[in-house]
Amino acid sequence: MAFEFAKRLQQLPPYLFVEIDRAKRQALDAGRDIIDLGVGDPDTPTPQPIIEALYEAAQDSSTHHYALDAGMPQLREAIAAWFERRFGVRLDPAKEILPLIGSKEGIAHLPFAFLNPGDVSLVPDPCYPPYRNATILAGGEPWPIPLDAARQFLPDLHGIPGEILKRSKLLFLNYPNNPTAATADLPFFERAVAFARTHRLMLCQDAAYSEMTYDGYRAPSILQVPGAKDVAIEFHSLSKTFNMTGWRIGWACGNAEILAGLAKVKSNVDSGIFVAVQRAGIAALSLPAEHLERMRQLYVGRRDRFVDRLAVAGWQVPRPRATFYIWSPLPSGFASSAACCRWLLDEADIVATPGNGFGVAGEGYVRMTLTVSAERLEAAADRIAKALAKRPRASRSSVPS
Ligand SMILES: *Cc1c(COP(=O)(O)O)cnc(C)c1O
Repeated sequence: MAFEFAKRLQQLPPYLFVEIDRAKRQALDAGRDIIDLGVGDPDTPTPQPIIEALYEAAQDSSTHHYALDAGMPQLREAIAAWFERRFGVRLDPAKEILPLIGSKEGIAHLPFAFLNPGDVSLVPDPCYPPYRNATILAGGEPWPIPLDAARQFLPDLHGIPGEILKRSKLLFLNYPNNPTAATADLPFFERAVAFARTHRLMLCQDAAYSEMTYDGYRAPSILQVPGAKDVAIEFHSLSKTFNMTGWRIGWACGNAEILAGLAKVKSNVDSGIFVAVQRAGIAALSLPAEHLERMRQLYVGRRDRFVDRLAVAGWQVPRPRATFYIWSPLPSGFASSAACCRWLLDEADIVATPGNGFGVAGEGYVRMTLTVSAERLEAAADRIAKALAKRPRASRSSVPS
């Protein structure tokens, strides 16, 4: 029997990582020693106190039942306390915080709450794919706003055509940014909030990497902008901050009406976060600051050793001050992101992600993650050095990238 996917699924853009995934599997099956810089998933374990909190909570049979959809009051209060400590912003735990089964869950459900056919979501290009794909699944139209290196990967909001703006309801932002590793300062968030107010947009800022910042830089929250709660929500996640990608817990906070719409969708789709995971989340949010410092030092060390060694190899890549991504223009002589990633895999046994997988404006870039040890990153840089040295002179110099 042939069962055809619904039109909304058929409308999703093709998955651009298919070819690289297949090639990676083949290489692994052939027993090659692959260094995988493709996945954005911390390689180090969840901190022990969080695991212990889960273990203890799982022994308590009162956690084995349906959770309240809305999330435990204690979790909301722990989030509010963390948010005020971190950003100096007070949130009403009952109305301005909505726990999520990972922030991706909330990001993907939000368009179902607010988009009608013909409505537009403004999404950065390149971007984390759910902003675009969830808009399509919900029957809306994504409109890409290019992120250019010349503008520090901040969107040119005033470049959006007026007729698109009239149909737009949602504006997605993501700083610190995946995949570009760009950061935004508070004045940018102030301009974005003013823009959203003028054009009656719901502003959705994804702060999944807010704590993964280096060199003394601290990322602001969009909710620090006075009046931001009138138009904005912000997504937060325990996944990257506490090495909890598999646990599925995060939250949205900010504008109460937007959260109420999202909560209504969720109440028809899921039945809440496992209570034991919620208790573990409370434990995570009360960990001492040293945990975050250790996490930052780990990635800074890896970043510096990788970037420095790549420079020796003849490839100058940017040194990000946030996230665990290296977002780099291709070494000279490569015709496309896909060709470069194919070459990295074939000639250096390295998996990297082609930039155009995040949107057409990502063409000409590759993304590499700092989620393997510093030793492996140096080995990767050395392999790249060898492979670059083997490239024929002509293709190294004459073909523009
Ligand atoms: C990893 C990531 C998330 C986190 O997703 P969870 O569902 O909370 O694990 C959200 N946004 C971006 C941009 C990410 O890279």
